[in-house]
Amino acid sequence: MTHLHLKKYILESADFPRPGILFRDIAPLLREHFAPTVEALDGLLSETEWGEIDALAGIESRGFVLGAALAARRGKGFVLVRKQGKLPPPVVDMRYDLEYGSGVLEMQPGRGRLLLVDDVLATGGTLNAAAELCERGGYDVRALAVLIDLRLVDGFRWRDLPARAAIVY
Ligand code: AMP
Repeated sequence: MTHLHLKKYILESADFPRPGILFRDIAPLLREHFAPTVEALDGLLSETEWGEIDALAGIESRGFVLGAALAARRGKGFVLVRKQGKLPPPVVDMRYDLEYGSGVLEMQPGRGRLLLVDDVLATGGTLNAAAELCERGGYDVRALAVLIDLRLVDGFRWRDLPARAAIVY
């Protein structure tokens, strides 16, 4: 299934969750074409690159859905990057700026080479904070992958790593 075909199942919801935001709703895509969606993410890394990944980290909550499915497909472990207050200690945290105010992400420390996964790249604030957090938690972040890059930022990078995207707007 082509990426263009997958795009047809992503709905646009205007002014959600706030006025001025065009929300990309992946629920129909997950419902109708989950396996090809995960396959599209799988293809973002070469076999050599996959061989250098120990585990996937997903950002709550749609990053869990995509990241966990991809981890299982590849026989890798899965690491939770959660919103504040959900994980028991020990945790490391990272505060980051949102459009209005700020948020905090948390994870439990660990070791290994990670692929970090989320659903949508908008300003890049969430992915940037999550990557910093993974490093703070003792992980080695090797690659970043999102299902959708809204292209609000031109050439997003964390350190020298670009955000690879299966679908671009
Ligand atoms: P950002 O930190 O601005 O890159 O926003 C990325 C996070 O917010 C992701 O975890 C997305 O789930 C969510 N998000 C931001 N903008 C949108 C959008 N237009 N449609 C769907 N999700 C979005």
